[in-house]
Amino acid sequence: MSETFTSASQEEAGFRDRVRLSFDLDADICVIGAGLAGLTVALEAARLGASVAVLEGRHIGWNASGNQLGTVMPGFALPLTDLIERIGFEDARELWTLSKQGAEFVRANASDESMPGIGLSDGVLEVSNVDAGDRLISRLQMLNEDFDTEVEGWQVDRVREALKTDHYFHGVYYPKAFQVDGRKYVHGLAALARRAGARIFEDTPVVSIDHSGIRKRIVTPSARLRASHIVLAGNIHLGAPSKRLSETLLPVWRYAGVTAPLGERLHEIVAFKGSVMDSDGVDHFRVVDGDRLMWESPETTWAARPQRFAGAVGRRIRRIFPELGNVEITETFGGATGQTVHGMPQIGQLRKGLWVASGFGRQGMNTSAMAGQMIARSILSGDERWKLFSPFELVWAGGATGRVAGQLVGIWGRASSAAAGALARYRERARVKDRQREARLAEANRAAGTGPRRAPPGVRPRPAPPAKGAVGAAEPVVHEDRVSQ
Ligand SMILES: Cc1cc2nc3c(=O)[nH]c(=O)nc-3n(C[C@H](O)[C@H](O)[C@H](O)COP(=O)(O)OP(=O)(O)OC[C@H]3O[C@@H](n4cnc5c(N)ncnc54)[C@H](O)[C@@H]3O)c2cc1C
Repeated sequence: MSETFTSASQEEAGFRDRVRLSFDLDADICVIGAGLAGLTVALEAARLGASVAVLEGRHIGWNASGNQLGTVMPGFALPLTDLIERIGFEDARELWTLSKQGAEFVRANASDESMPGIGLSDGVLEVSNVDAGDRLISRLQMLNEDFDTEVEGWQVDRVREALKTDHYFHGVYYPKAFQVDGRKYVHGLAALARRAGARIFEDTPVVSIDHSGIRKRIVTPSARLRASHIVLAGNIHLGAPSKRLSETLLPVWRYAGVTAPLGERLHEIVAFKGSVMDSDGVDHFRVVDGDRLMWESPETTWAARPQRFAGAVGRRIRRIFPELGNVEITETFGGATGQTVHGMPQIGQLRKGLWVASGFGRQGMNTSAMAGQMIARSILSGDERWKLFSPFELVWAGGATGRVAGQLVGIWGRASSAAAGALARYRERARVKDRQREARLAEANRAAGTGPRRAPPGVRPRPAPPAKGAVGAAEPVVHEDRVSQ
């Protein structure tokens, strides 16, 4: 199956008929928001027999859900080690298992029969920006043995065979992670939900809710709805229905670009065909449509037109893969992700019959699927596993000040990751030069027929290394730990 990418114009052409709610309606469940989260709740609840109405203020997949890369991994935006630190090993393992089930839910839906042209393909590679092979081994052990997740460690040579760049070092290969056409997936999900009986109304913003009674009231500009349960799946744009909830999310806009066809040379430089992500969450890319590169990189804490970032995406590609030269970016897209203060999604019941599914950050494919399934099953069959998320409360994200702080932290994170990467590459080049110098020295000694090492003219002999354990041994790798932290 070849990797595909559905452009915004293809999407528009394919999904033009929108239905707006123009009459009053009763339902078991009202879902606010037709992104990945809302549509998954709707699909699962309709499959379990509930009557479901989805109200979407713009159109299906309007924000992040329809403008994402479609990479499906286990886990959360919060790194696994941080998760363990926060809630302990056993609970972290349960949450990780749920996140894998979310990925499996996506895989089960994304078959070619139910979503024609979805382009599912296996294998995702996470690459390290710094030379930290020692940490790789413990990460592999933890994932394989403790978290039951199939992974392979790739040495630097193997990574660089697959990706012709000296920016990346080791890699962790996830053979069971996968990718789909992200835009097609969200529309496919809507089609499946409709087929299961859910009703989806677009151009229907929810302007207020009254969740006090058993039957809750939902108000839109043109009609009212009554439902026993409301699921808030509006991400950062939720607005008036729950301002306080919106304020618990830090909006982060992420942008991506797709190059013009690059021909055969792309395959020589990017031989790996699945998604690639770097360990700092800066770059995320893969080959699509045979010979185009789809690349996600810049982020901001304010809304901007994605076209503005075409140049930045092109420059980033040239920086990582200089052999590609200047590439033309023919398409750009982007959307706002909702980031929580603790880095974990918001999943659960706020009040009786009032549910929340948001805050999926940059890893929403599997986590929103997990959330949607859990909420629907809790409403309809008493599944209480969403309570595992209760340690992650709703925390105010700091309003406008929080956004500025978030941007600064983002810039700092990127700068420090770039610095660590540059230092790692510098050290690698220094090691290569050292080895070359040693080889020249040995060669010169052999040619001179001397026993003890003698430096050729102009080369100062290196001092003998200090004995093991000697105090003050100044090894060149002394900064290794500091760099990789
Ligand atoms: C460039 C980019 C690349 C990404 N790549 C990946 C990836 O490869 N893999 C991955 O796992 N994740 C990825 N993500 C993250 C992922 O897209 C998000 O986490 C996910 O889409 C969030 O889904 P959602 O349903 O919570 O929110 P949204 O997509 O924001 O959907 C919420 C919907 O609710 C509607 N809404 C809000 N308020 C109201 C209201 N009051 N009334 C009616 N409707 C309302 C909005 O119009 C919107 O359509 C990426 C994100 C971006 C931006």
